[in-house]
Amino acid sequence: MNLPALLKNRIGTDVRLAMVLLFAAIAIVGITPFAIARALQGEWLAAVLDTVVLAVIAGNAAYAWRTGNSALAGKLNAVVVSLACAALAGALGPAGLFWTYTIILANYMLAPRSLATVCGGVLLAAGLLLAPFPSTLAMAAFGVSALLVMLYAFIFASLTEVQRKLLEGLATRDPLTGVANRRGMEIDLAEALRGHLGRGEPATLAVLDLDHFKAVNDTHGHDTGDRVILGFVERVQSVLRKRDRLYRLGGEEFVLLLPGTDHSGARAALEKIRDEVQAAPLADNVRVTTSIGAAVLEAEDDWPCWLARADAALYRAKAAGRDCVSFDSTLGGPGERRLRLVQGHPLPWPGGPA
Ligand code: GH3
Ligand code: MG
Ligand code: MG
Repeated sequence: MNLPALLKNRIGTDVRLAMVLLFAAIAIVGITPFAIARALQGEWLAAVLDTVVLAVIAGNAAYAWRTGNSALAGKLNAVVVSLACAALAGALGPAGLFWTYTIILANYMLAPRSLATVCGGVLLAAGLLLAPFPSTLAMAAFGVSALLVMLYAFIFASLTEVQRKLLEGLATRDPLTGVANRRGMEIDLAEALRGHLGRGEPATLAVLDLDHFKAVNDTHGHDTGDRVILGFVERVQSVLRKRDRLYRLGGEEFVLLLPGTDHSGARAALEKIRDEVQAAPLADNVRVTTSIGAAVLEAEDDWPCWLARADAALYRAKAAGRDCVSFDSTLGGPGERRLRLVQGHPLPWPGGPA
C-alpha cells in the first residue's frame, strides 16, 4: 500500500492516531518559526522549551505510527506540552499565556477528559502564579477566561464521547436481539486471539444455526420468526457464563466465543445449550432445534481460519441430521467429535427434518 493510501487507512480507523498526527503537523508548522525567532532574539529558555516540545510531539507521532499506541502518545503529548507551556508562562510573561488556551483545547482532543482537566488545572495555576499581570483585574480575566475554555472543552469532549459510544453501539450491535453483530465479533475475535494465544489459554468458538428456520417463517410468519430468534438469544444467554460472548452473524446464525474453555468444557457447555434450546418452545409455542459447529483455538489460527473451522463443523452437524454438536475434525479424529442425532422431538414444521 502506498503512503497516502496507508495514511488514509490508518487514520480512518484510529481517530486518536489522526489527532496525534494532526497535532504534530500543526505544531511543527506553528511552533518552529517561534523557536527560531526566540533563538535569534537570544531568548534561550523559550527557544529550548519550544524545541523540546517540538521534539516530543514529533517523537510521539512517530511512536504512535510505529506501535499503534496512539492513546499513550496522546497522553504524553498532553502532559509534556502542558508542562512546557506552564514554564513558558513564567519565562515569557503574558505573551506565554496566549498558548494556554490552545493547549487546554488540544489536551481534550489528545487525552482522556480526566487527564486533560488535570493538565488544564496545572496550566491555569502556573499562569496565575508565574505570569506577571499588570493588574488584579487582568489576572482575574485570565483565570475566568481560561476556566471557561476548559469548561466548554470538557462539555464538548463529553458530548463527543457520548456520540462516539452511541455510534459504536449502532455499528456493532444487532438491532433485533441487542447482541453484538458481525462487526463487533470481528473486533472481539481479533482481540481474543491475541490475548488467548499470548497467555496460552484455551478458547473455543462455536457457530450455532437454527434448524429448518425457513419453515418456521413459512408456517408461523416472519414476526413469530423474529420472536423465536429473540427467545433463542435469551435461552442461550441464560446458560452462558459472564465471560462468554454471543454474536448474531445474520439471520438465524450465531457465533459463540467461550474464553478459557477447552474441548471437554466446550462440549459440555454446547450440549447444554443445544438441549436447553430444544427443551421448550422459544416463543409463540414454537419449538426449534439448533445445530452447533465448534473449533478449539489452535496456535496457528487467525480468527477467519478459526471461524471457518467452526463453520465447517456446523456443516457436518447439519449433514449428520441436525440438533447436534460437532467439533472441528482436525481435533483428534472421530473419537473427539460428537455427532449426536436426537430423535423424537416435536418439530415446528410439517414433515420434520429431511
Ligand atoms: P437449515 O436447517 O439447513 O439451517 O435450514 P434453514 O431453513 O434454517 O436455513 P436457511 O439458511 O435456508 O434459511 C434461513 C431462513 O432464516 C431464511 C429466512 O427466511 C430466515 N431469516 C433470516 N433472517 C431472519 C430474520 O431476521 N427474521 C426472521 N424471522 N427470519 C429470518
Ligand atoms: Mg438454519
Ligand atoms: Mg442459516
